[in-house]
Order: sequence, then structure tokens, then C-alpha cells
Amino acid sequence: MAEAARPRSIFDKIWDRHVVIARENGPSLLYIDRNIIHEGSFHAFNDLRTRGLKPRRPEQMFGVPDHYAPTHGRRPEDAPTEEIARMIRVFDDNMRWGEVPHFSLQDRRQGIVHIIGPEQGITLPGLTIVCSDSHTSTQGALGAIAFGIGQSESALVMATQTLWQVKPKTLRITVTGRRAPGVEAKDVILTIIRTIGAGGASGYAVEYAGPVIQGLSVEERLTVCNMSIEAGARSGMVAPDDTTLSYLHGRPYAPKDAAWDAAVAYWRTLPSDDGAPFDREIEIDGSAVAPTVTWGTSPEDALAISDRVPDPADIPDAQKRGTAERALAYMGLTPGTPLSEIAIDRVFIGSCTNGRIQDLRAAAAVLKGRKSAVPGMVVPGSGLVKEAAEAEGLDRIFKDAGLEWRDAGCSMCSAINGDVVGPQERCASTSNRNFVGRQGPGARTHLMSPAMAAAAAVTGRLTDVRRLVGG
Ligand code: SF4
Repeated sequence: MAEAARPRSIFDKIWDRHVVIARENGPSLLYIDRNIIHEGSFHAFNDLRTRGLKPRRPEQMFGVPDHYAPTHGRRPEDAPTEEIARMIRVFDDNMRWGEVPHFSLQDRRQGIVHIIGPEQGITLPGLTIVCSDSHTSTQGALGAIAFGIGQSESALVMATQTLWQVKPKTLRITVTGRRAPGVEAKDVILTIIRTIGAGGASGYAVEYAGPVIQGLSVEERLTVCNMSIEAGARSGMVAPDDTTLSYLHGRPYAPKDAAWDAAVAYWRTLPSDDGAPFDREIEIDGSAVAPTVTWGTSPEDALAISDRVPDPADIPDAQKRGTAERALAYMGLTPGTPLSEIAIDRVFIGSCTNGRIQDLRAAAAVLKGRKSAVPGMVVPGSGLVKEAAEAEGLDRIFKDAGLEWRDAGCSMCSAINGDVVGPQERCASTSNRNFVGRQGPGARTHLMSPAMAAAAAVTGRLTDVRRLVGG
């Protein structure tokens, strides 16, 4: 059979088009279309300066401060320490020196890297996109190969616009059936991770497919692809379709006019061909997905809200049993406790997983006219999300409920900007990691969707959101 006629997956189509040098049984040199960077990039810039180099194609880079960004002010001096303030100033200096397009802290377009890429149309189907952050997989939701890299690799991309990469195996996860009312994208991805395990996609590039995925908005697909990394995947992606095109059309960095038409013609060729080979296929029953929360210290420790805290004694494997025992000790939970009886101390709504306008709308719909029983903060994923939310009056709903309304940034997702959960405090969080200490030393994190976090805020306990809004 001729090479061109062989059915290929979307991953293979994009990969093949970007290979500069292919080595038999070894890594390939890939052309990289976009390198999106944040304030941690000072390592890579130091590397470039030491070698006497400058970014080769700065117009294919984009920079934004997010991880350390203060969320109660837009000046570097609003940061909790002078060291963080200096890091943000160094970021601005490096952007100017490298002539890199960027959105500084004061820019209304500033936000979390994985939110602003799609929002600005920097992220497009068919591209190879890297960023020195593991959740770069988020951006595959628009039909791109997007993956995280280290700072030394980022310096190489800046200098050469290429990167040596071992080609990952491909895994297609098909989510069948129909989502039940009250079930959000976060519930779908938590269920996928629970089913295949936190290492279940290790070494794979994942394509999400099937009717449930096709029925998701782009914002929801971004949530799903975001957490691919929590199952160990190298990347996650969804083939572009009409939903993708409507989302991208008119975005500032998306192609315009004839260039748009040409791009669309190419993007239409990207979806996996019928009969395309995958190294592995998994099917998940989307109709069986329920509102879900985590109980332990791994995203795979997820259960339907109607369940109970599991008993490690029921786990036959000694190593897994020990892990579950340690997780419950850290989380301060007793086996057999109904999840819906677990009281929380605070709530965090935000992050690159769930900091988009649709997420804030979902949380606000639950909180409207109600009070939060616990303190908490709502952190929009970008300045533009914040503006949109304020135009719709969502900020008023959050503030009336007693929650803080902050400026854009990663905030309490990784707790390195000073927004932390206290020791032994239990947080209902819309972020993506519930690891030991992720939201602060000793902090106990329960992952869930924005609607579920809002429901937990209202009752002060982990709560089935369907009890509050019907469905
Ligand atoms: S929001 Fe959290 S996961 Fe996302 S980029 Fe920031 S720190 Fe990383």
C-alpha cells in the first residue's frame, strides 16, 4: 500500500509533518511551532545569555507570568516576597531582551499559560506546542501536539526552534454514551484517571474521542486534556471539529481571511482516519459517570460523591494497601465515612483546569443567592476571563456569597505565590493535583468540578451538586 494511503491518527499526521530528522529506533528532531513560557523561564534565558545566543524566532514564542503572580494586585511589589517580585521583573527584562511577545502582569490579557494560549488563538490545530510546564497537555484540546518540557529543553527550542523527542505510543480513549445532567468534564476526566490509574497512560500520547468528548465545548475539552498528565500521558488531544473552529474564529492570533480558509482546509484533514492504528484503545462508559471527588493524595483516588471513603483493608495488594493507608492518614479520613459527610475548611475555584469563564459560570449558578459556609477564593484564569465574568455580574455573586474575587494567576493550585491552604485544612479545589503538600504544607485537597466546589462551599461539606440545582 502506498505510504499516503495508510490510515493515520491525528497524532501521527502532526508528528510526521514536523519531523526534521528521523532516526531509526531513536528520537526524532521535531520542528516546534510555539514555545510558551512563564516566569520560571529565567533559567533558560540565563542559559542563552551564557552561550551568547538569543531566541531564534521570538515571534513564535509567547510569555506570561502566572505561577508566582500575586492575585491581589498587579504590581511586582504586590508579591509576598521580594524574591518573587524580582522574578517577575526579571521576566519582563528577559521578554524585552529577547523581543518576545508577552503579556506582563499589568496587561489585561495576562493569565495562566494554558488559558491564554487558546484564548488568544496562539494555540491552533496541527501545531507542535511546548511550554516548561507539565500541564501543557491542556492545549491539545484544540487538536495540537502539546507537551511539557524542562528549562534546558526550552533554551534549546529558543535557540533552534527544534527539539529531539522519542515518539510516544498512541492511546485512544473513547468515551461512549451520554453525560448525565450535573456531570461536568472534570467528572469525566477524574473517572478516566480512576479507571486507568495515575500511571495508566504513561508513555502515551492520548487522543480523546467518542460522543461524550465530541459533545464537550472547547473549554470542557481543555479541562479533560489538562489532566492527561495526571494519568501519566505525554500529551492529550481532541481532533478539531466545528466546535473547535467556532471557538477559534476571530481570536487575536488566529489566522484571518484567506489564511483562515487555508488553515481550515488543512485542519479538516487532521482527524484520525478510519482504521488508523493505535498502540492501545480504552473505552469508558460516559453514561455511568457521576459527580466525582477525590478522597486521597493522587488524582486516581476518585469516587462518585455517593460513595464512601474506601477501606484499605479491602485492597489485596500490600503496596497499594500501604499507599491508601498513608493517604487516609494524611487526609485525616476514616474508612467507611460517606464522602458527603466530609466537612471542608475552604474552597478554591480557579487554575488552568477550571479557571475559564464557563467554569466560573457553573460555580456562580450554584452560588447565586446563597452564602458560602467556608472562606474561599475565586481566581479567574486570565484578565479577560475576569473582565467577562464582571460584565456578567459573576463577581458580585461570588462576593455576595462571601468569597474573595482575585486577579488572574495560578494561585492556590500550586500555592507558590503566597495563596496557601493551611496545615490540616481541607480544601474543595477545582485544580488538578491533590498531592501531599500541593496547596501548602499539610494541606488536604479534594479535587472536583467548579459546580461541585460551589456546592461544597454552600453546605460546608463535600456535596452532590444535583441536590442543590436538580438534575
Ligand atoms: S494552574 Fe496549576 S497546574 Fe496550571 S499551570 Fe498553574 S500551577 Fe500549573
